[in-house]
Amino acid sequence: MTSAQARINGQAIEIHEGETILQAAQRLGVEIPTLCYAPGLTPEGGCRLCLVEVSRATRPVGACHTPIKPGMEIATHTPKLESLRREILALYLEADEQREFQTDSRESEFTKLLARYGLRAKPVDPSQSGERIDQSHTYLRFDPRLCISCRRCLNACEQIQGQFVYGIAGRGPATHLIFGPGERFDESACVGCGACVDQCPTLALSDRDRWEAKPAERVTQSVCGYCGVGCRVEIESAGERVLRIRGVPDAAVNWGHLCVKGRYAHNYHHSRDRLTTPLKRVGSDWLPISWEEALRFAAERLLRIRDRHGPNALGGLASSRSTNEAAYLLQKLFRTVIGTNNVDCCARVCHSSTALALQKVTGTGAASVSFADIESARCIVLAGANPTEAHPVVGARLKQAVLNGARLIVIDPRRVELADYADHHLQVRPGGNVPLFNALAKVLVDEELIDSAYLHERVEGFPEYREFLQTLSLEAAATQAGVPSPKICEAARLMGSLRPVLFVTGLGLSELTQGTASVMTLANIAMLTGSIGRPGAGMLPLRGQNNVQGSADMGAMPGQVTGYQSLRDPEVRNRLQQVWGSVPPEEPGLTVPEMIDAAARGDLHGLWVQGEDIAQSDPNEAHVIEALSRMDFLLVQEMFFSETARYAHLVLPAAGALEQEGTFTNGERRIQQVRPAVRPPGMARPDWSVIRDVAVALGASWNYQEPADVMDEIARVAPKMFGGVSYDRLGADGLQWPCPEPGHPGTARVHTEGFVRGKGRIVAIDYAASPEQCSEDFPFMLVTGRVLEHYNVGSMTRRTAQRELVGEDFLEIHPDDAAARGLADGDFVELESRRSHAQARVRLSQRVTPGTLFLAFHYPETHTNRLTSAYTDPESKCPEYKITAVRLQPIRPAPLS
Ligand code: SF4
Repeated sequence: MTSAQARINGQAIEIHEGETILQAAQRLGVEIPTLCYAPGLTPEGGCRLCLVEVSRATRPVGACHTPIKPGMEIATHTPKLESLRREILALYLEADEQREFQTDSRESEFTKLLARYGLRAKPVDPSQSGERIDQSHTYLRFDPRLCISCRRCLNACEQIQGQFVYGIAGRGPATHLIFGPGERFDESACVGCGACVDQCPTLALSDRDRWEAKPAERVTQSVCGYCGVGCRVEIESAGERVLRIRGVPDAAVNWGHLCVKGRYAHNYHHSRDRLTTPLKRVGSDWLPISWEEALRFAAERLLRIRDRHGPNALGGLASSRSTNEAAYLLQKLFRTVIGTNNVDCCARVCHSSTALALQKVTGTGAASVSFADIESARCIVLAGANPTEAHPVVGARLKQAVLNGARLIVIDPRRVELADYADHHLQVRPGGNVPLFNALAKVLVDEELIDSAYLHERVEGFPEYREFLQTLSLEAAATQAGVPSPKICEAARLMGSLRPVLFVTGLGLSELTQGTASVMTLANIAMLTGSIGRPGAGMLPLRGQNNVQGSADMGAMPGQVTGYQSLRDPEVRNRLQQVWGSVPPEEPGLTVPEMIDAAARGDLHGLWVQGEDIAQSDPNEAHVIEALSRMDFLLVQEMFFSETARYAHLVLPAAGALEQEGTFTNGERRIQQVRPAVRPPGMARPDWSVIRDVAVALGASWNYQEPADVMDEIARVAPKMFGGVSYDRLGADGLQWPCPEPGHPGTARVHTEGFVRGKGRIVAIDYAASPEQCSEDFPFMLVTGRVLEHYNVGSMTRRTAQRELVGEDFLEIHPDDAAARGLADGDFVELESRRSHAQARVRLSQRVTPGTLFLAFHYPETHTNRLTSAYTDPESKCPEYKITAVRLQPIRPAPLS
C-alpha cells in the first residue's frame, strides 16, 4: 500500500479527494448495505447499516459519511458487522401497537435486503388498506405501513426539488412522515416531481399510475417532449402504451430529475382525440382519406397556388414540438421546391427578440452557457422568467444554487416563486425593462463597479455608452421602470460586487415592443460586469417548447438559412447549390405576424402549419382567424384537431414526441436523440417523412431513408455549427453546438476566447413606451404566461390527469383590486381589451401588484389571445404578449362551465 492508498477488505485502493469509504468501496465493486443513503443527497448516517470496521477505530464507523484516509484498513463484512445489520433490520420489523413494518407483494430495495439477511416482513392486511393509504394526490400514493422513516424522500424533496414538503413527527415507535404541516399530500405544497418516489427504498411512496400496471416490456431512452430544458427520460412501455417515465440518473441536463409534466403527463399519446387518418374538408364535412390521396391533394394545391400567384403566395410554419429533421426539411421544401423564404417557427412569437439581440451584440443568438453554470454562479439575475413553473427542472437547480449560497436578483412584474428566495425582487412595471436596465447600468458605471479590463479588451462602444448614461437621470429611469431608485442601487451593487454574473432570462423580456431593446440593454450589463464567456456567468435564455431552439437553428426563419447563415453570403449560396442543387431567393421572406397580415389582405393564399395552433396561441385572435379563413389552402399537420385545424382544407395526423425518431435541441444548444417508445396511432406519421413525401410529390428527388440521413445533410449545409454532428456521435448526452468537425467535443460555453463577432457590442438604447398603455377606460395591465401544470396551448396536458390539478385558466388579481370591485376568490369576470373580450375565474394573489393582472392561455375556451394586441417588436416582429390594457367587470351569476 502506498502513502496515497487505503485497503478495503485487503484490496489496495487509491484515495480520491473528498471521497467517503462507501464511495471508495463502490469503486472497488464492494457492496456495503445502505438504506438511508442515496447518491447526490447529503448522507444521513441514520440507518447504521453501512457501519464498517476501520483499523485503530474503537467502534465501527458509518461508511456513508466517513471520509476515506490514506493508510486506513477497512473491513466491510465481518461476522460481527453482518450480525449487527441483521439485528438492525429485525428492529424495523418489530411489532408495536403504533408501528409495524409490513410489505405488499412488490419487491423493493428494502425487501431485497431483508431476504439477504434471512428476514421477512408481515404482509399488509388488504382489509385495512383503504383508510390508511393516502391517495389524495393525482399521481402519488403513500402507504404509511411500509414507511421506515429513513428520510430519503425528505432529503430528495429538499435537496433536489427544494420544496420542503416532508417532515418527521413523533419519537421512537411513533416516528412518522408528515406532509408539511398536514398529514396528507393534498394539504402539502407538493409539486408532483416524483423525486421522493425515486428515492423511497420500501415503495411506501409510489407512482399511482404504476400501482396496478403490467410489467414493462421495453425501456426506451429519449428526451422529454415538453419544455426546452430537454430532460433525458427512460420510457417504460408495454404494447403500444407508455406505462411510466423516469429521469435518467446520470443525464447531464437533469441528473434523474423530472417535473410533473415530464414524468406523469404522458397519457395524451393514447387519447381518443388523436388524429389517426388524413382528413380532407369537403363542404362542412371532414372526409378520411388515404395518405396517397392526401399527398397528391397537398402537392396539387401548393402547385396551383404557386403557378397562379407566385411562390411568395405560400408560407410554412415549422413546429417547435417536432424534430430538427422535420424543421430542416420544411424550410428546405419551401426554399427549394416552392421557391420562397416565407418560412418561420414559433421562436418568432417567443424568443426572436432574444436571439436577434444576442446575435447583434455577441454574434450568436443563443445561450452563451450551459445549465451546469448555474451551480458555479455566485450571482444570478433572473429577468422576465418563471422557471419553477415554465422550466421546472432548471427552476429547481436555481433554487438549489441559492440554497447553497448563490445570490439572486429577480426582475419581474409578478412575484414569481423564486422571488421568495431572492436578495432583491425588482418588481418592474410591465414594459419597464429598458429604463430599469439603463438605471442599473448607470449605477454600475457611476460607482465604478465595472470590469474595466474586460471592457477594454473585449468590448466596443463603451465610451459612447458612458456618455449616454451620464445624461440619464436615475430618478426618471426609476420612475419609468416603476422601481424605487434605492432598490436599483442595492441590486446594482450586489451585481457589481459579485461579478461576473449569470443572467437567466425569459419571455418577460422578449415579448414586448421593446423586446430586442430589453435584451440588448440587459446584455449591456453583462458586458459591464465582464460576464459573457466566463464560468458561472453569461446569458442563459430559457427556451419554451422542447425544440424551439432547434427549429430556429435549422433555418425555419425567413431571414436566415440553416445555422443562422446569411441568404446572401456567396460562400453559403455556393454550398447550398452543391448540397441542395439549387439556392433560395436572396430576399428574406415573411415572419409569422407578416404572413397573418398578408393572408388577411389576400396576398398569402396558402399556408402549411406544422404542429402549431396559431388560432389559440398567436395574439389578436380575431385577426388570425380572419386570415386563416381567407386561405385558398391551409394544411395542418397535428396530433389533435386543433383550433387552427377548424379552418384547414387538409389535416394530416402527426406522431408525437413519444412516437418518433429524430433530435431535439434544448436551451443550452444540446442536440439530443429522441427515440420512439410506442408506434403512432392509426395512420399517424412522423412529420419529417410526410414533408419528404410531399416534396417528392411536388417533383423533388429527395431520398432520405431515415432521420440520420437528414442530420448528415444538415452537417454539410452548416458546417461551422453542425459539421461534427451525426447520430453516431450524439451518445447519451448529445452534443452542444457549435460542433464544427468530427471529433469536436461540442461547446459548453461560447465566447470564451473572444466574441463570435469579434468584439462584443455595448449599445445605448433609450426607453420608448409601448403604444399599448392603460387609460381611464382600461385601467389594468394584463400579463399573460404559463402555469406549472400545463404546456403551451395545453393540447397535450389537457388530455392527461393534469386537468385534475388545474382544470381551467385563472386570472390572478391583487386582493386590494378585488376588494375594490367586490370580487371574491372564484368569482367570474369579463375581461375587455381594446380588441375583444374574454372570461375567466379570478384567483386572489399577492403575486401581482395592484393594477396588474395575470392570465394563462392553456384552455382554448378562455380565448386569452382575443385580448392581446397585434403590436410587435419593430426589429424581431415578436408580438407583445406581456402588455395588454384591460378592464374587468364581475359576471353574476357565474357562467355554467
Ligand atoms: Fe420535461 Fe421540461 Fe419538465 Fe424537464 S423540466 S421534465 S424537459 S417539462
